[in-house]
This record gives sequence, structure tokens and C-alpha cells, in this order.
Amino acid sequence: MPLLLTTIPCLKDNYAFLLHDSDSGDTALVDAPDATPILAILRENSWNLSQILLTHHHSDHVAGAEDIAAATGARLLGAATDAHRLPQLQAQLKDGDTVQVGSETGKVMTVPGHTIGHIAFHFPISKYVFTGDSLMSGGCGRLFEGTPKLMWGTLSKLAALPPDTLVCSGHEYTASNLLFAASVDLDNEALVERIEATSAAVQKGVPTVPSLLSLELATNPFLRAANPTVAASIGMPNASPADVLSALRKRKDKF
Ligand code: ZN
Ligand code: FE
Repeated sequence: MPLLLTTIPCLKDNYAFLLHDSDSGDTALVDAPDATPILAILRENSWNLSQILLTHHHSDHVAGAEDIAAATGARLLGAATDAHRLPQLQAQLKDGDTVQVGSETGKVMTVPGHTIGHIAFHFPISKYVFTGDSLMSGGCGRLFEGTPKLMWGTLSKLAALPPDTLVCSGHEYTASNLLFAASVDLDNEALVERIEATSAAVQKGVPTVPSLLSLELATNPFLRAANPTVAASIGMPNASPADVLSALRKRKDKF
């Protein structure tokens, strides 16, 4: 049985995610932007939270962690690299480490670029990957701490996961990300369709996160930095994917 996934809108446009194993009752949280909505969902379902998995140190992903841990007794797990700037961790994670939710084992992947110590959690049986602000719906996080080369390595690693994996990313940025995508990825039929579906969802107030990796591969310009059409459309036909990503990111920052 796949883990039950609950997407929780938090703050202005953040998402947190609960993973629940109905056989064992085990429940884990990925990211903790705000304690109130997360504790409310735990209470509604009478779920006992055993652990909080943190993707990166930014306050909009960790601000509620200590309150939730105090209220539930959950353990805090996060990147060893960033232990000094994360809430007090009970377990420090490195690339290839595993986390256990009920009967399913998740794998820790280092995904630097947005921050240096950013990690993702991949659950291969349930087919979820929790990417925080690395790979995002229709885009990628800003390069606050890493280089374009690091982010390209990160995106390439995530792109190699099974295409039917659900990408559970940290923000509702899809609509604006796709608007930018359309400005650099001309004549992409899949992108046109996704923009239509996204505006319909946004109008209904339906979250556009998570998204399928296959859809990201077809429409996310940052994942498509090695695609000749994308490179040519920004006037960089022979550039490396990392250089194309760098140019895309700079354009997006000003978009
Ligand atoms: Zn962030
Ligand atoms: Fe964020």
C-alpha cells in the first residue's frame, strides 16, 4: 500500500506534506512552515506524528518545526551539512541515508543549488519525491547559495527518477513559473496544455502541487536546459546545460 499523502497549504503560498501509513499508523511530516494548520490536520485525523523531515533551513520551511515537535513528540531530521542552522535535530542526514515511514523506506538525496545543504526525500514504492525549493512545479528555486552547475546536477539527478513520480515541492508558484516557461520554450504543446490546466485549477482554488515528474520533464524549462529548442530560444544554441540554466535563472529573477 502506498503511503497516504496529504498536502497542507501553509502561510501565503507554502506547502507541507503528511505521509501516513495506514497499517502501522505511522505518520511523518515533510517541512514545517507553520504549526497551526499542520497540528489541526493531525488532530482531525487522530494521527500521531513520529518525525519531521526538513528539506532546507529557510524559515518558511522550518518555522513551525519546534512547536510541532513539542506538541507531538516527533523527532526532527534534517541535513547534517546544515545542522548548525536548522532547529535542533535528532538525526543528521547525508546523501544515500534512509528514513522509515511505516513499512516504506525513503531515500535521502542531496540536492544543492537553492541552498548548499538542501536535501530531498524519495519514496520509491509510493512514488513521491519531496523536493522543497530545488525542483519546483514548473520551475526551480532561486540560486541563493549554489551555482548553476550545482543546480543542474541536482535537477539531472531528480530527472532520472521514474517519470511517474509525484514531485511534492514547497510552493504554489506554478502559474507564474509557467508564464515564464512560455517566454523561453516556444511551440511546446505540452506547456500550452499545462498552462490551461493550471489556470483552471488556480481559479477553483485547487493546489497545482504535487505534479508528475513526466509533466515537469515535458514543460519545466529548467529541467529542459539541455533541450536544443530551449537553448536556441534564448540565443545560446551551443551552450552547456548549466550555462543555459544560469541564463534562464537570471531571466526568471527579473521576470
Ligand atoms: Zn527556500
Ligand atoms: Fe521556500
